[in-house]
Amino acid sequence: THNIERHEYDVIVIGAGGAGLRAAIEARQQGKRTAIICKSLFGKAHTVMAEGGAAAAMGNVNSDDNWMVHFRDTMRGGKFLNNWRMAELHAKEAPDRVWELEAWGALFDRTKDGKISQRNFGGHEYPRLAHVGDRTGLELIRTLQQRVVALQQEDYETHGDYEAYIKVFAECTVTRLLKDGDAISGAFGYWRETGNFVLFDAPAVVLATGGIGKSYVVTSNSWEYTGDGHALALLAGANLINMEFIQFHPTGMVWPPSVRGILVTESVRGDGGVLRNSEGKRFMFDYIPEVFKDKYATTEEEGDRWYTDQANNRRPPELLPRDEVARAINAEVKAGRGSPQGGVFLDVSTRLPAEEIKRRLPSMHHQFKELADVDITAEPMQVGPTCHYIMGGVEVDADSGAAAVPGLFAAGEVSGGMHGSNRLGGNSLSDLLVFGRRAGAGAAAYVDGLAARPKVESELVDAALEEALAPLNRSGENPYEVHHELQRTMNELVGIIRKAEEVSEALEAVEKLKERVRMVGAAGSRIYNPGWHLAIDLRNMVLVSECVARAALLREESRGGHTRDDFPGMNPGWRRKLLVCSTADGASVQVEEKLQPSMRDDLITLFDRDELSKYLTDEEMAEFDGIAK
Ligand code: FAD
Repeated sequence: THNIERHEYDVIVIGAGGAGLRAAIEARQQGKRTAIICKSLFGKAHTVMAEGGAAAAMGNVNSDDNWMVHFRDTMRGGKFLNNWRMAELHAKEAPDRVWELEAWGALFDRTKDGKISQRNFGGHEYPRLAHVGDRTGLELIRTLQQRVVALQQEDYETHGDYEAYIKVFAECTVTRLLKDGDAISGAFGYWRETGNFVLFDAPAVVLATGGIGKSYVVTSNSWEYTGDGHALALLAGANLINMEFIQFHPTGMVWPPSVRGILVTESVRGDGGVLRNSEGKRFMFDYIPEVFKDKYATTEEEGDRWYTDQANNRRPPELLPRDEVARAINAEVKAGRGSPQGGVFLDVSTRLPAEEIKRRLPSMHHQFKELADVDITAEPMQVGPTCHYIMGGVEVDADSGAAAVPGLFAAGEVSGGMHGSNRLGGNSLSDLLVFGRRAGAGAAAYVDGLAARPKVESELVDAALEEALAPLNRSGENPYEVHHELQRTMNELVGIIRKAEEVSEALEAVEKLKERVRMVGAAGSRIYNPGWHLAIDLRNMVLVSECVARAALLREESRGGHTRDDFPGMNPGWRRKLLVCSTADGASVQVEEKLQPSMRDDLITLFDRDELSKYLTDEEMAEFDGIAK
């Protein structure tokens, strides 16, 4: 074996976004020696970009809110495909996690009487998002980092070493998880700057690597979202679920081309912004689906009254769940009623005074001024759908975050189940905190229960090393070209609206791309070589893309973030089916069906019979009637 830099820890956390930091803090608080590894600079995780807020039923703005209402909203949003235990834990624990952040120094916006303010968001019955202007993610990360530093200061006092129990390895990419037999024994990676390799010897790994957006051309995601954690888990023998469900956020910038896909926060609509087509019509009123008919305003007047009187009016349809709004925009553009640059109009300028817009939406004001030379206090924005979030991810135990592989845990966007077929806005930041904490605790408990520490096997390290070096040793395919081809394929053929022929075509293309990925070469040395980094990331992107496409082809219905042109509408036959991806040989993906477990009696009876009957199968309804008696 090469002479590789080596570190030993109890728990390593891959990813320093909200989920990773919260997991690491928990593992350290439980007395575990913890490493945080991230491929970007510390503090520059995706979480930093989150704008709108963290959903938590604190009831500060509307005292009718509570965890049961939040639970119901989350299940509805996910079209009842959610892991209901996760949705339950999330709704119950999110308020405590927000309070905890405040105790650690976060400064949320306040209500007039000094409570943590909460804002409206799509699919949430009451104002529920704790926020800091439209820069909530920044405050969340800042606070968690501050907490890490506080713990390091404690450790200095006790051990004379700031990094005795929690250390950050930034700009370090993990390329393989290592195992001893069935169990996790560590992780292998490289320093982005020097290209030197590094080995982490640890019995427990928490994956918190975020999403997969960079497999699509138009995305709100940044460069590090290459599905690494999804692929690392798959290659280590874990399962991915719900991979067909991708959230296309309805409002990304569409112009200029260089910024296409960059997010326009849903807060714009939550705070009063409306969507219009080229005829000036507020078209969302035409797109209220049957299951939501009684919950949304049917006239503009009622929708407008709702902002000031929510008790007596229904919410405007601009605040339908994201999948509905994205499909509606897509349909308007296709019907020729789009804006000049191929989106629709999102207008807040005629809805709020300029000063109010600048106060509530400072980043949006800045973003449009700087990037598009548009003043949102005076003119409408042009927006269209953008690949934003993946509901699918590592199949985990709800309570502990444990994956199928002993010693492997996952939390945050890389995990699957919590959001079912569609995530509600604001439910990710709260998810990171709730399940980050649980995964950290799960990993700590697992380490405590181990009889012997798994060993790092040198053959696996050698294989990981060889795999990482391979692109440097050949002058084959250009990684940028292969990447672009993959992005185009996924965007065009497995995008917001899907059909069998196109998804099959995509699978054929992905198969060919896999071959090309095996041939990609990166000229130059290991010292800061972005072409090499991309060559390594491509393995992950094609593998994850294959999961998305295979699952999308199998699911012959439309539900949440999966819309099949050839199978419109939800199909009861698919209602309880989860698709589970795995790989036996590390090269090809298998997909199996699995039945979603029945909801616990005390949870299912939180819903009205009428509503349940819109989603559940006859069989399930008969079961429900038995319980409800
Ligand atoms: P991230 O914050 O993305 O962190 C991933 C970490 O993993 C990074 O540190 C990265 O460097 C590291 N990493 C990845 N691969 C590797 C590897 N191979 N080796 C080492 N490290 C690796 N959600 C809400 O609830 N409310 C909002 O208002 C909201 N606004 C959003 C706005 C934007 C523009 C975007 C893009 C998303 C928004 N979301 C929002 C979604 C939410 O921000 C993300 O889902 C969430 O931040 C993901 O957090 P995470 O901790 O799972 O991962």
